[in-house]
Amino acid sequence: MVARFLIAAICVSCFGLAAGCERGSRHESSRARPNVVVITVDTLRADRLGCYGFERARTPHIDKLAAEGVLASHVIAPTPITLPSHTSIFTGLQPPAHGVRDNASFLVPDEAVTLAERLKAEGYRTQAFISAMVLHRMYNLHQGFDGYDDQLWGGGDRADIALVRQRSGERTMDLVLQWLNGNVGTRAKAVPFFLWVHLFDPHAPYDPPASDAEAAPTPYDGEIASVDRQIGRFVEALRQKDALDDTIVVFTSDHGESLGEHGEATHAVFIYESTVHVPLILRYPRKLPAGKIYPGPAQLVDVMPTILGLLGVEPGVSQGTDLSAPFAGTEPPPTFARYSESLHPELEYGMAPLYGLRLGDLTYIRAPRPELYDRAKDPGETRNLLEPSAAASDSAAASAAGPQAMKLDHELSKTLGELERLALVPKAKPLDEDTADMLRALGYIADPEAKQGLEGMDPKDGIEIYAQIQNARQMQHDGDYAACTRLLESLLKTMPKNVSALNTAALCETKMGNGKAAEQYYLRSLSVDPRQHFPLVQLGRLHLAERRIEQARASFREALEVVPASVEAMSLLGYLNLLDGSLDQAKSWFDRAIAEDPGYAQSHIGYGDLYSAEQNYRKAKEAYEKAAEVEPRSFHAWFNGGLCALRLGEVETAERYLIRAAEVDPEALLRNPNLPPLQRDPRLVGFRAALSRAMQPQ
Ligand SMILES: [Zn+2]
Repeated sequence: MVARFLIAAICVSCFGLAAGCERGSRHESSRARPNVVVITVDTLRADRLGCYGFERARTPHIDKLAAEGVLASHVIAPTPITLPSHTSIFTGLQPPAHGVRDNASFLVPDEAVTLAERLKAEGYRTQAFISAMVLHRMYNLHQGFDGYDDQLWGGGDRADIALVRQRSGERTMDLVLQWLNGNVGTRAKAVPFFLWVHLFDPHAPYDPPASDAEAAPTPYDGEIASVDRQIGRFVEALRQKDALDDTIVVFTSDHGESLGEHGEATHAVFIYESTVHVPLILRYPRKLPAGKIYPGPAQLVDVMPTILGLLGVEPGVSQGTDLSAPFAGTEPPPTFARYSESLHPELEYGMAPLYGLRLGDLTYIRAPRPELYDRAKDPGETRNLLEPSAAASDSAAASAAGPQAMKLDHELSKTLGELERLALVPKAKPLDEDTADMLRALGYIADPEAKQGLEGMDPKDGIEIYAQIQNARQMQHDGDYAACTRLLESLLKTMPKNVSALNTAALCETKMGNGKAAEQYYLRSLSVDPRQHFPLVQLGRLHLAERRIEQARASFREALEVVPASVEAMSLLGYLNLLDGSLDQAKSWFDRAIAEDPGYAQSHIGYGDLYSAEQNYRKAKEAYEKAAEVEPRSFHAWFNGGLCALRLGEVETAERYLIRAAEVDPEALLRNPNLPPLQRDPRLVGFRAALSRAMQPQ
């Protein structure tokens, strides 16, 4: 471990020196340098785009980008999971090196050198707009960005289960275009920018705008059509500003979507083409030809060295290949094996991990029952040449398969060894003993010998169970809580330690108002894996609801330990201090949360409550207004803001805010103990009228 760290540290520092020397030597000035834009559309299969041959696609803008640039036809994602795959795009490292193997429970190590950090050092302005919680700055991929817009809390967007909090591509693009207006123009043109735009719409659940749903062959394609329109707006904006040809535009995706192939509905488990074959288009007419299809192998780790290659700067430490010359057609395509993995089945379900290597037309997947496919004859990877049944249909291919698989397995071991050579220190640290003792005392840590029930299972055999868990999640999403817990209970009989099933069951019980049952599920889940941020926060909330203040505090502190940037944990800890009257401590928690993420409404609401407690209604109202600004759908922000305004004698404002609160959440209003006195208040004529209108049967 220590030796590995030393190697990584030395590499990084050498690289830092190299980058330093580079500056100013090979460039006349930053003025001549192009802008760089990377657009990642989450969950986008290459073969659902018109330019990749899908005839029923409705993707004219992406197709046009391809017609004006280079399209790489054989690009593989390192893993079908959002955070690790994006980390590979922006570090040029494969997951065994950057150490991020799944969403949510991994942080991008500080030691990683990101494209944003490189370009910032080259004098670029750097800005990102992301559209899903899994890429929130708390996971540390924001390194090197001057601005990282991950304000996903408000705006009326779909607030799904915590993991997939997202904002629509349209809203993200509105903000991107606003930013372009402020930053691209004749005045600011001298300083080039690096912009990352992440759009999340094609990710499940598929819920496209009605017109797209009608026109596209499936709802998934409808989401893609909707994203395509946003790409069109973006490219047009650059064109209007006369900046398009001075910009390297890179269009890609982090992974695809199974859409039912191989028994998988979405993505994350398997590493077949359906989830790892992604689009990659580069448009930069100053150096790259138009309408070229690049047939050679490529991987997402090639994106960063290729961009740096086009800019003429040192590639630095990378496990990808600079394809700028082959893309330009000045060098032949290099040949190399393409790596991908999924540790998700292992990390979340205790099943076996999957490791894959693609060489030429062959796909090899290392699993308890290994797989070999010849994509030239079997592009869908449906006939495993290593299964006994393969011999019956094609005996020659089957007899060659064994030695081929052995060779590829050997190659895979070699590749993994090379990738791990550059491994950075993972940031997630093991529990210290004090913490472990405390968790044990709280009942979080149970029998360490506990088996998951699926241990070592081939994901091909476990996919049915996985699919059932996904079904349960869908039921939870649709509000079908009772059916969801019934399904989960039956699954938990075969795999009692499955944290995903336990957490989903806990959410359902919470929604149904069964705090005790929810708590039991969270305790079971945390006994399997005590380092889970969301369950710790939720468990703390349940303690809080039962006024078990010290237990709540312990849970929130644990959550903060797991995710040090957790604004939820910080503002809840502040709230606990508010309850026990330690206002200074409460303030410092709210300040910390606001400094971390000013777009999180609860911290502002905390401040509002704090000033209310001090009877400083002017400042309280300001804090609630700030909360309503960042989270326009917050009932508490509007309602409490209205109460403060009333205290201050600002009747008109009070009515306006209270009416907004009623619109946002009429049920919460009716339950609120402050409502009856408000209804009796003679000053609130307009509010009463609005309320009675809202209560009319429709
Ligand atoms: Zn993704």
